[in-house]
Amino acid sequence: MIKIIKGNKPEILEINEQIWTEEYIKLMNGDESIPKIARFRYRHKDIKSALRDEANDKCIFCESKISHTFPGETDHIIPASKDYNRIVEWTNLGYVCKECNMNKSDYHDLNIPLLNPFIDSPNDSLIFFGPLVLAKGGSVRGQITVDLLDLSRPAIIERKKERIDRVKALLDRALAFPEGDAKNFLMRKVHDEALADKEYSATIKAYLTHAI
Ligand SMILES: [Zn+2]
Repeated sequence: MIKIIKGNKPEILEINEQIWTEEYIKLMNGDESIPKIARFRYRHKDIKSALRDEANDKCIFCESKISHTFPGETDHIIPASKDYNRIVEWTNLGYVCKECNMNKSDYHDLNIPLLNPFIDSPNDSLIFFGPLVLAKGGSVRGQITVDLLDLSRPAIIERKKERIDRVKALLDRALAFPEGDAKNFLMRKVHDEALADKEYSATIKAYLTHAI
């Protein structure tokens, strides 16, 4: 997990956020069942596309790249089941992988909220150690985030190990070069692997901090 800067609200929400919210509240307070179209307006393709862009096509929680085979899902930071006034609120929406979305479900504890990558600095509460993510010294919010989302699940650990191995090979190559432009070029490539648009950038950044 890394800190994410909320992107600009897409035009479709600039126009409709309030209208859709009022419509939904009215339906929730009424007796009739809510039509599918009103329930899932937050899944609009323009909203999803804006969420995907701000997250660099990665899950905002586990940093897994989301492929076209397994498209990402739109998550409500505060679940719609807990606060339906925020069903299409731009700042309450994020791009997530299926597993994190499923694990998070409708968790919403005001005393121990999950880390919010749009507000919190994950590095204050989490430690990235090899392919693992651990809670930092007694951080209760860090612990519940790691445990509930299962951020060190086997599939992620495997993919992180592969990423670390590839970056290690690149670093070894760079370090074997004599000082000069060739080495500088390779070292830049190594550091690029920890940029925010790269998969598991927090893990790679932590690895490089110890390796260099
Ligand atoms: Zn995820």
